[in-house]
Amino acid sequence: MAEDNPHPQNPEVPDLTPAGLAGIAGSAHAMPPAAVCRALDTSEAGLSGAEAARRLRVFGPNALPEGHRRSVLARILTQFNNALIWFMLAGAAAAAALGHSVDAGVILAVVLVNALVGFIQEGKAEDALAAIRGMVAPRASVLRDGARVSLPMESLVPGDIVLIEAGDRVPADLRLIRARSLTLDEAILTGESVTSSKSIATVAEEAAAGDRKGMAFSGTLVATGQGTGVVTATGTDTQIGRISAMLGAVTELETPLLRQINAFGRRFSLVAFGGALALFLFAVFLRGFDWQAALMAVVALAVGLVPEGLPAVITITLAIGVRRMAARHAVIRRLPAVETLGATSVICSDKTGTLTRNEMTVRRVVTAGGALMVEGAGYDPGEYRLTASGAQQALIRAGLLCNDAHLGPGWTVGGDPMEGALVTLALKARLEPGPERARTPRLDAIPFDAQHRFMATLHEADSGRVALVKGAPERILAMCDRQEGASGPEPLAHDLWQRRIDEAAMEGERVLGYAMRQMPPGATDIDFPDVETGLVFLGITGFIDPPRDEAMRAIAECRSAGIAVKMITGDHAATARAIAAQLGLAGDPRVLTGQDLDRLSEADFPEAVRETEVFARTSPEHKLRIVRALQAMGRVVAMTGDGVNDAPALKQADVGISMGIKGTEAAKEASEMVLMDDNFASIVAAVHEGRTVHDNIRKVIGWTIPTNGGEALAVILAILFGFAMPMTPVQILWINLILAGTLGLVLAFEPSEPGVMKRPPRRADAGLLTPFLVWRICFVSVLFTALALTLFFQAQASGRDLETARTMVVNLLVVLEIFYLFNVRYLHMTSFTLTGVKGTGPVLGAIAIVVLAQFAFTYLPVMNAIFGSRPLSLSEGMLIVAIGAGSLVLLEIEKHLLRDRFGCGGP
Ligand code: ATP
Repeated sequence: MAEDNPHPQNPEVPDLTPAGLAGIAGSAHAMPPAAVCRALDTSEAGLSGAEAARRLRVFGPNALPEGHRRSVLARILTQFNNALIWFMLAGAAAAAALGHSVDAGVILAVVLVNALVGFIQEGKAEDALAAIRGMVAPRASVLRDGARVSLPMESLVPGDIVLIEAGDRVPADLRLIRARSLTLDEAILTGESVTSSKSIATVAEEAAAGDRKGMAFSGTLVATGQGTGVVTATGTDTQIGRISAMLGAVTELETPLLRQINAFGRRFSLVAFGGALALFLFAVFLRGFDWQAALMAVVALAVGLVPEGLPAVITITLAIGVRRMAARHAVIRRLPAVETLGATSVICSDKTGTLTRNEMTVRRVVTAGGALMVEGAGYDPGEYRLTASGAQQALIRAGLLCNDAHLGPGWTVGGDPMEGALVTLALKARLEPGPERARTPRLDAIPFDAQHRFMATLHEADSGRVALVKGAPERILAMCDRQEGASGPEPLAHDLWQRRIDEAAMEGERVLGYAMRQMPPGATDIDFPDVETGLVFLGITGFIDPPRDEAMRAIAECRSAGIAVKMITGDHAATARAIAAQLGLAGDPRVLTGQDLDRLSEADFPEAVRETEVFARTSPEHKLRIVRALQAMGRVVAMTGDGVNDAPALKQADVGISMGIKGTEAAKEASEMVLMDDNFASIVAAVHEGRTVHDNIRKVIGWTIPTNGGEALAVILAILFGFAMPMTPVQILWINLILAGTLGLVLAFEPSEPGVMKRPPRRADAGLLTPFLVWRICFVSVLFTALALTLFFQAQASGRDLETARTMVVNLLVVLEIFYLFNVRYLHMTSFTLTGVKGTGPVLGAIAIVVLAQFAFTYLPVMNAIFGSRPLSLSEGMLIVAIGAGSLVLLEIEKHLLRDRFGCGGP
């Protein structure tokens, strides 16, 4: 390739230096495009790979410095910026002031362990988010060695020739050398929200950035049209790089759920503090406790009650969800989407490429003379050769010339797959793309856009200048008044064509129409008025694009999960209906077209949207209206999109989903999630993970709060009724210390429960504390207290000393929490299954740590001295484990009896 396009390096041009480049970049808008290319020692064919690599070493990558990332110290300090932690630190200070150094030390240890776990895990969460952000790093279309390639934005160098089109973010500062209907949204630079139209014109040297018509600045968004430009500045040398060097993403870990939890934590601390104060006064004045002992008791109690580790564990749960989704090709751009995905009740999806494979093959070619069926599948023409009539051959040639795609090695498509299929068709008809295109050079084009649904090109042909048009067949028919017959143009048989189009569409084929027109000899460009009327209709082609197998399975999964799926497509109604039926969207899918939607009254609109599975020939504005209507009915809507005009609908949707492969930058930036493989099945996989995250958060809360409550309640009762405390303050703190970062944390790693996709979506407005969870918290707290106190009194009644009885209580509480963990791991089914009993790696690891710690607590002399514990006998140990196992049986029965009544957190 490089030989065909010798690199234009001109020995008379001195080597580009950063200083020299700055001069060119500063005045490029005032120089004609050709002069800029010369100064940058490049040509319209682009740089060679070798020269680009050399320039990359000289000028550095085209990237802005990373956004401010919080320093280690700042991240450690934020761990302490939490009402619950302050509360504990106050407790530690009080204990230290009273000379209870062991208690103060243990409280500090709890705080530190928590902060450490939070710090490490949040760091990992941030890294995970940063890594997946890298997965959706923007790319740019560049000419290198004369061929169009897609490269990471960072590898652009001055002198590169870059192609931009609607929806792209301009990747570097460009001097435009070609512009067609090009308008840019430059708000990021100028603050003005109106788009500015661009041309290749030169302007005065002193013109302000906003007036430099011939420049496209890095970071601005292409609103419409297409353009080509030469890179004049990259990285921090660009306008945007100079304005602010901090556009990089700042990791945001706060989500509505975390805010809710933090607010809950603050309220909870206040209540705990108030309750502790009241209890303290009661103990000292009514029960005659020594004030210091009473103070230590209530401090320990409050510390035990406060779920200080909860926010960190929930952040971790979300981050794990993000990671699992990324592994399933769904990249989360905003953390709250992880929660919202789990509540999704409607998925609105594109058709082409998302539900279908986007592997197009032309199956039929129809001209006035008749239809030709084409064999083969895929882009490899294989051995198939067509015997086409003259008219058919003319249509096939039009399809090849009015076309931007090319076939690469291994029969891969560069460009639009449908256009790729037309190149294959041409090969089957013995038309060689290279020579054909060279023989009939293209002079100008109106590019395809989804709004107009057609594309047109102007060519220099043997018969003079001709315009070729292809597009949605009804659109093309409307431009024509004649058709190409056996002996030249004849009157258009409109109705016949309509029948033929319907026939193909009803088989699920995507239909395209073709037309041509003779242009005046001197015509050099083509515009809308040239093709709006008076064309000669050449015929139609029908393409097959098979549904994705995994999409069919995913749709079936959505059905069992109570999630409605709606197809929103730009394609023909009959094609969309046939594909929807093949996909199993519905037995007889209901279809509305964009026009039907426009005719509906405001009042009828929501109901119609609710009942319809397929929306055909829609425009992006319809998507926005559909999302709004569904949301007004209380649905949580996930919506896919890829074009620049889809951005408003993506923003409006609860979960906007953009396409990683064919999506524009504008769509990606408006979306919450990017599909790396453009595949519908990945959306459903993400919903699956989202539901799991929500389950796990509920499990974390459902485990943490009652275990805290159980220990606190036992002590409160002791103070209220004036009996010996079943645990000393430092023992309460011990329980907290060993559980922080072990048992509670493992629930964040829980795999999905079987049947997550067999229940209906949860209600969007349902809080985290469902009635079942509230009941659970009360029931388990009371159960644990009752068991602990019974053991405490029994132990003493059977002649054991107070210390041994307390040691038994501490061990019992820890054992109860271990068994309860097994119960909580399955909210929706019994835990008595083989996998349920076996646990997972994290579960077993955490239990091992806790058990070892308890052995140390019970048997190590130094621990006995610090915590006032006593060694227990084997039979005492077995009794404790037996009570724990008994509690699990009881809780399983309770779960079985109540989960249906409470819906167990279901809808
Ligand atoms: P979706 O991706 O939403 O399922 P779609 O890909 O069918 O829809 P568009 O890409 O908006 O929708 O295309 C709309 C219509 O425009 C197509 O049905 C086809 O008739 C026509 N069309 C699509 N691509 C081209 C093209 N490259 N040249 C000419 N016409 C085209």
